Amino acid sequence: MTRGNTGDLLIRLLRALLVVESAYYVRGLFESLYFNESTVPLFDSVVTTRPVMSVAGLICAAVLLAAAGCRAPQKQPLVRLPEQHTTRNGHMVIVSDFKLSDRHPVVTDLVGLKERIVAELALPEPERDVVVYLFPNEQRYRNYLNSMHPGLPPRRAYFVGTKSELAVYTFWGEKIQEDLRHEYTHGVLHACLGNVPLWIDEGLAEYYEVPESQRGGINSDYPQLLASSIVDGWRPDLERLESLNDFAAMQRLDYGESWAWVHYLLHSSPSGRDTLIDYLNDLKDSKAPAPLSDRLATTEPIFGARMLSHVADLNTPGLIIRANDTRAGYRATPIRN
Ligand SMILES: [Zn+2]
Repeated sequence: MTRGNTGDLLIRLLRALLVVESAYYVRGLFESLYFNESTVPLFDSVVTTRPVMSVAGLICAAVLLAAAGCRAPQKQPLVRLPEQHTTRNGHMVIVSDFKLSDRHPVVTDLVGLKERIVAELALPEPERDVVVYLFPNEQRYRNYLNSMHPGLPPRRAYFVGTKSELAVYTFWGEKIQEDLRHEYTHGVLHACLGNVPLWIDEGLAEYYEVPESQRGGINSDYPQLLASSIVDGWRPDLERLESLNDFAAMQRLDYGESWAWVHYLLHSSPSGRDTLIDYLNDLKDSKAPAPLSDRLATTEPIFGARMLSHVADLNTPGLIIRANDTRAGYRATPIRN
C-alpha cells in the first residue's frame, strides 16, 4: 500500500469515526422551493486570515503527517469552522469570521425567539449553550459539512447535537433569519429538554421559524400542500408521525403535518396547549412518556376530526397571501421594533 493510499484510508477512517461520534442527533431543513443560488453575503466586514484548522482537522493533519512523513503540506480546501468573532447572550453563542453586533437584528431576533419559546411552552431555562457557527458564504459552509459530515443531504442549515455541544451550522444568505430560527429552535428544545422526539422537534421548529410578528403562526410552505393532499386522500395521522425516528426519511408532507399538529394544538384545540405543555414537561424527566396521541385521545376524543377540519381551514386565500407577504425577504424588510 502506498503512502497516498494509507493517507486516504486514514482520512476515511477518521471521518467515519467523527461522524459516528458526533451525529447521534442531526436535524436539517429540506431544500426550500425558494432557494436562491445568487445569495450575496451581507455583513460589516469579512476577516480573511490564514486558515486555522479545527481540532478534528488537526487530528487528521497529525495522522497524515505521521503516515506521509514530513513532506510539505499540500493545499487543502478551506474546511475550518468560523472562529474570529464570538457573540454571547446567555446560553446563545454565535461564532463567525465577520463582526456581528449583539444589537444586530439577527441576534436580537434569536434572543427574543428563545424567550418566546420558553414562555409559550413553559419550558425550563436552557441549561446548555447552543453554538451557532455562521459561515460567511455558502461555499465555505458546504466545504465544511462535506468534510466533517460527508453524506448529509445538501441543505441550507443543520442542527447537530452531541453530548458535548449543541451546534447550528449555516451561512449568511437570503434565508438567514428563517434558517436560524428553525435550527435555533431545535437547539433551545434540546438545551431545555434533552430528549425531543423527531415529529415534535420538527413541528415546533417549523412553527417557530415564522417570525413573532406573525402571531397567527402560519407557515406558508404548508397550507396548500396539506389541503391538496387531503383532496388526494391523505389524512393526518399523529400515531404514524410519532413512529418516525429517522430525519432523513421525513418527507415534505411529514414536515408539514408536524407543523400543522403544532399549529392545531396551539391555535385551535380546546385542550391542546395544556396537553402539549404537559407532554413537553414530561420529556424533561422521561425518555418515553405517554405519546401525545394517547393524551389527546383522553382529553379530546374527536381530535382527529377536529385536526382535519383545522387543516382544511388553513388553506384560505387570505391566510396564504398574508404569510407569503411577510416572508418576502429578511434583507429587504429589516425587523422592526
Ligand atoms: Zn428541522
